[in-house]
Amino acid sequence: MTEQILQEQAPDAVVFPRSEHRISRADISDNALKVLYRLHNAGYEAYLVGGGVRDLSLGREPKDFDVATSARPEEVRGLFRNCRLIGRRFRLAHVHFGPEIIEVATFRAAHDFDGAGQEDAQLRDGMLVRDNVYGTVGEDALRRDFTINSLYYNIADFSVVDFANGMDDLEAGVVRLIGDPDARFREDPVRMLRAVRFAAKLGFRVDEEAGKRIPEMAPLLEHVPQARLFDEVLKLFMGGQGAQTFEMLRKYRLFGALFPGTDTEIEEEGHGTWVQFLNAALDNTDRRIADGKPVTPAFLFAALLWPVVRRRTSFHLEQGLTEAQGLQLAVADAIEEQLQRVSVPKRFSLPMREMFALQPRLERNRGRRAGRLVTHPRFRAAYDFLLLRAVVGDAEQELADWWTRYQEGEGRQPEVADSEPARRPRRRRRRGPRRGGDEGGA
Ligand code: ATP
Ligand code: MG
Repeated sequence: MTEQILQEQAPDAVVFPRSEHRISRADISDNALKVLYRLHNAGYEAYLVGGGVRDLSLGREPKDFDVATSARPEEVRGLFRNCRLIGRRFRLAHVHFGPEIIEVATFRAAHDFDGAGQEDAQLRDGMLVRDNVYGTVGEDALRRDFTINSLYYNIADFSVVDFANGMDDLEAGVVRLIGDPDARFREDPVRMLRAVRFAAKLGFRVDEEAGKRIPEMAPLLEHVPQARLFDEVLKLFMGGQGAQTFEMLRKYRLFGALFPGTDTEIEEEGHGTWVQFLNAALDNTDRRIADGKPVTPAFLFAALLWPVVRRRTSFHLEQGLTEAQGLQLAVADAIEEQLQRVSVPKRFSLPMREMFALQPRLERNRGRRAGRLVTHPRFRAAYDFLLLRAVVGDAEQELADWWTRYQEGEGRQPEVADSEPARRPRRRRRRGPRRGGDEGGA
């Protein structure tokens, strides 16, 4: 599209020619370039958009590359053999190149957002249900969430088109909604979590006006489907900046909307022990991600639910139950309550339960029975969890040290001491998409 046509369609658009921005084709994946060029050569408008443009502008490596185009989904499919259309209400094209998927979306007009992960979202209470329609690139830009996510890299002339002052906000380090924050949060409350996620990840601040509204609007997250929140929670805590994100989620009172039980324990406990505990868990996860080690949602959720499990276990002990019984009941309750907000697939909740159940056994089975415990498939994760508890005095440091020495004395046993999931026969049975590592501490 020439600059002139652009100006007619979207008078506020600012075009940054190649010499005035940082995006170089050398940093864009070959597959994304292939898609952009083929669309362009077929006569369609084609832009790189979203996180790809944002991250490259900041000199960061993007997680993935998204493309926006004037071609309709069927037309995109006609151009690529390796293309699948996904989504029912609003169709997106996925162009597959081995493990890499380039998502190609046709320009849309409505202020609604209906991304792939949100297909079955039940929209109510001010959230839009109207079907959205195809639009121009300028309209497409305005339905996006933040100004910094609304920059378009034009393959026709290698310029960046900015419809919402995104370049200035990138420069200033601000996460700002496009349009009225109140209305945009109401349309899709997940944008509150996204605002915090991007701010923590990029070291930005949330725009003041939006930031003020978030604590008041946080309860709207109740209406978001639990499965979508599960995906968001993983992005929040397993994106490499978990500790920083946790702090911001608390500051904006979003943490309590996701983990109400845990939030209550944090607030009531008063000494900061649980905050310290969760920080240690998240620091640990962040460090593992930085080192390229596998992390598992099972460990993350175990840490997030532990304060609730602890409280409830002591309640059941006071009622005269044994520790094992009390713990089992506490875990069942804590999980059931949490599932009201955020779903946790069985493939993560089962190993999490096992990690919990192993905690008292680690306390009891020092000595002769230790050998058997060490061969338990969840031993390593449970041991890592024990170390974490010891950090804040929730378990005896001396106990943690005992297990450390015990394993050193035993020599590393291949089936338990190695956290590579590939070594495990169980792996063959894994179903569903992979989300982080299968085993080992987070
Ligand atoms: P990253 O992939 O690094 O997490 P991203 O910005 O690419 O960040 P995606 O979730 O991949 O985020 O979404 C791609 C783009 O789609 C975003 O940049 C934004 O323009 C738009 N988008 C995503 N989710 C929403 C939403 N809930 N509301 C409005 N626009 C959205
Ligand atoms: Mg993306």
